[in-house]
Amino acid sequence: MTFKALLIEKDDAGYRASVKDVGDEVLGAGDVTVRVAWSTLNYKDGLAITGKSPVVRKFPLVAGIDFAGTVEASTDARFAPGDRVILNGWGVGETHSGGLAQRARVKADWLLHLPPPLSERQAMAIGTAGYTAMLCVMALQRHGLSPGDGDVLVTGASGGVGTVAISLLAGLGYRVVASTGRLTEAGFLQGLGAAEVISREEFSHPGKPLAKERFAGVVDAVGSHTLANACAATRYGGAVAACGLAQGMDFPGSVAPFILRGVTLYGIDSVMAPLQRRQQAWARLAAGMDLARLDALTQQVGLSGAIEAAPRILAGQVRGRLVVDVDG
Ligand code: NDP
Repeated sequence: MTFKALLIEKDDAGYRASVKDVGDEVLGAGDVTVRVAWSTLNYKDGLAITGKSPVVRKFPLVAGIDFAGTVEASTDARFAPGDRVILNGWGVGETHSGGLAQRARVKADWLLHLPPPLSERQAMAIGTAGYTAMLCVMALQRHGLSPGDGDVLVTGASGGVGTVAISLLAGLGYRVVASTGRLTEAGFLQGLGAAEVISREEFSHPGKPLAKERFAGVVDAVGSHTLANACAATRYGGAVAACGLAQGMDFPGSVAPFILRGVTLYGIDSVMAPLQRRQQAWARLAAGMDLARLDALTQQVGLSGAIEAAPRILAGQVRGRLVVDVDG
């Protein structure tokens, strides 16, 4: 039996992504086979589909670092046919065939049960980007940051991580300052809960080792000068959660914020995050994500639409989150 998949191939004809009818031979080894219902397009999927960075390291491979669906078959006692499950990361869509397909086969260790009341579509609207936003929020809260401490800066505000981070932080009572290159989206970002919207130009150029103390905390999806300037503008004892590289992978900063203001920089990784932390993050997303706001920041495409959207997400042109209907 064949099924539809967004397949990445690399051979003498070059690197390419296309929607194909494939068989189980493209799936990797695993204990659980899932009928995928929804997937998503993350920044990393954009890199994988376009081949702009070497995200995919095995060919042919099904793209997609996320999926949600229903278990078809399982040899692991933790999952039974009919269970609704989600997956984020673990190298799926990189070295193991991924979620942008109607079927996936993965290790049981990588799966979580879909946390109620989320639907598969809502879980994928959150996806790796949203789950990473929650990991950032949890890091700031573990640091002890509370709403009374001051403003929280969110960079890359109109993107997937940014939009979910704004919604989560605002829902928790933090005053959020959203930094964006798309000031035309100010109304949209305020609708998600941003108290203030500023131009990313303020942070995207080389800056001073220390700037005016402005933020108690930061969620940074951008890296490079933006991260360096965000650290420099963080208040004494504040915290920065760094998860992304939309501007660049470099970190052209100084140690001044760390040694003179006791600022803490937390690195956030979603791909290999341990199971317990994932469960915590997803339980909090299920309990605390404003589903009306989630709906407002979500758009939908099919598998071919995901290929078309891949260069747009890398160019910072996708607003919020894109869910992928694998049957569409
Ligand atoms: P998106 O493309 O949805 O959002 C990124 C946003 O960054 C854009 O919307 C844009 O926001 C801003 N941006 C884009 N280009 C630039 C630039 N040159 N300079 C400054 N800002 C820019 O991606 P995601 O939100 O899904 O992911 C964001 C980053 O986080 C990516 O680098 C991704 O790889 C990383 N990530 C890391 C994870 C981890 O485990 N550490 C997990 C998930 C994502 P605006 O227009 O508002 O300025």
